[in-house]
Amino acid sequence: MAHAAAILTVDLGAVAANWRMLSRRVAPARCGAVVKADAYGLGAARVAGTLLRAGCRDFFVALVSEGIQLLDALGDRWPADARLYVLNGPLPGDEPVCVRRGLVPVLNSLEQVRGWQALARQTGVALPAAIQVDTGMARLGLPPAHFDSLCAAPQGWAGIAPTLLISHLVAAEDPADSVSADQLRRFEAMALRLPSVPRCLANSSGIFLGPGFHFDLARPGAALYGVAPVLGQPNPMRPVVRLRARLIQWRDVLPGQGVGYNHIWHATEPTRVGTVAVGYADGYLRSGSNRARLRLNGAELRVIGRVSMDSVTVDLRAVPAGQLVAGAWIDVIDAVQDIDALAAQAGTNAYEILTSLGCRYLREYLDEDGLDEG
Ligand SMILES: *Cc1c(COP(=O)(O)O)cnc(C)c1O
Repeated sequence: MAHAAAILTVDLGAVAANWRMLSRRVAPARCGAVVKADAYGLGAARVAGTLLRAGCRDFFVALVSEGIQLLDALGDRWPADARLYVLNGPLPGDEPVCVRRGLVPVLNSLEQVRGWQALARQTGVALPAAIQVDTGMARLGLPPAHFDSLCAAPQGWAGIAPTLLISHLVAAEDPADSVSADQLRRFEAMALRLPSVPRCLANSSGIFLGPGFHFDLARPGAALYGVAPVLGQPNPMRPVVRLRARLIQWRDVLPGQGVGYNHIWHATEPTRVGTVAVGYADGYLRSGSNRARLRLNGAELRVIGRVSMDSVTVDLRAVPAGQLVAGAWIDVIDAVQDIDALAAQAGTNAYEILTSLGCRYLREYLDEDGLDEG
């Protein structure tokens, strides 16, 4: 802690509590966890370890390399009855390592289906895989015509033991968007062709669209990490991330004086300007220039001028002079100004805020009892 200029605190107890809340909500369906992109930047091994202890057994990463890394990190803490799905599926040549490591690929295209079947022919056993169908996202998944042709062919699924049928929602966070109901209808229609295969549709927000979206398994990511699942509604999830950075120095500037690169901000009255040790190299997005807010003892500090690589300048006028000390801790993300609020100020979503969190922060993990896990 001695030389930390900024501390990122990840509350693993809150991750577990969020997972339990979502599990109760989808019961009797099961609840999995998406831990791709290093668990949205928070540490996949720490998060998965916590959720394994909480009882989660279905995990999702995006890439084969992420799956291998996670299994290597967990070692013998990875139980034999847990499943690790690879959402992007295998790229050509990835198939053997998936089998070797027990990764379950999501097959998204005819090419991926054929690649998996080719390996199954060589090994002489049907290989487990999830099948993704495209119900409207037009990103990953078998287009309906390709799915139909595989179902219609007598040996269409030969060599494949489907363990899950999945699809992905386009706009689940917006309950007013009718695309979710359209996708649900298409998904149910396609699922009739593989009636014995368990189904999985809902991401975090999809869980809140109601029981009709829950099927056999839900696969939330963002909500586990505290992101608000429903647009315009109070956030029912527990905050997971706290970020504090230290005040380096401050100065008083006069009317007309510019601050920071290109002087995109000028003082119109005498202003005390503070410099805080967080910048875009830490994932504090440059789009927050002149807009984002930080806090000191509850007082709001607006970002003035451009966000720099290693620092950001803030308006300290709301802070009584007596509270200013070099090294003071400034709140960047906390329960009052959460990741969704910061995202709105920076013109993005909380997913991008989380996955941008930098590697220069001192990372502090709190376990379920609130104790530092080191
Ligand atoms: C990222 C992802 C998820 C998780 O979505 P959240 O909105 O973070 O809950 C689920 N399914 C797929 C296919 C994804 O790519």
